[in-house]
Amino acid sequence: MSGGTPVGPSVQACIGLGANLGDPAQTLRQALAALDTLPGSRLLAQSSLYRTAPVEASGPDYVNAVAVLETGLGAEQLLRQLQRLEQAAGRERPYRNAPRTLDLDLLLYGDRVQDDPVLTLPHPRMHLRAFVLVPLAEVRPDLVLPSHGALHVLIHGLQGQPIQKIAP
Ligand code: ADP
Ligand code: MG
Repeated sequence: MSGGTPVGPSVQACIGLGANLGDPAQTLRQALAALDTLPGSRLLAQSSLYRTAPVEASGPDYVNAVAVLETGLGAEQLLRQLQRLEQAAGRERPYRNAPRTLDLDLLLYGDRVQDDPVLTLPHPRMHLRAFVLVPLAEVRPDLVLPSHGALHVLIHGLQGQPIQKIAP
């Protein structure tokens, strides 16, 4: 824990990691380690790394993973920390869905549901993306998403999105 950031009661947050520029696997491993050092936070679980083709975008294949963090940070505080880690990895946003050195999305923050463009929870597109749901099912197999239902049913509907486990 570092000074200055107030932390409250612990919540379990799920974070989606993705990268397709530079050395994506190395970047994801460093990001997973960095999540464990966030104020009032510890990494409870991490999925394997997966290779996926870009969705609604062009460019190199992605490497994706999901982390479960126990955190005393508030949801907005956590999002800011994730954006700080993206910046530290050299993230630029030249256009929508551009290739990226590191993307960290807040998928779930406990069972919080909110519809704010700055922070929408659950993440508004997670239920459509095999690259999120398959790694998430590895670490939280029995998860049921608010309004979208059981992970394994959602994954069954996304068979057209190829995803390949590349490393434990
Ligand atoms: P994307 O990941 O959708 O390709 P960005 O990472 O550039 O795009 O995020 C775009 C914006 O989405 C950010 O400014 C952020 O405030 C907003 N946002 C809304 N909900 C979330 C969420 N659950 N996780 C991460 N960002 C979110
Ligand atoms: Mg993002």
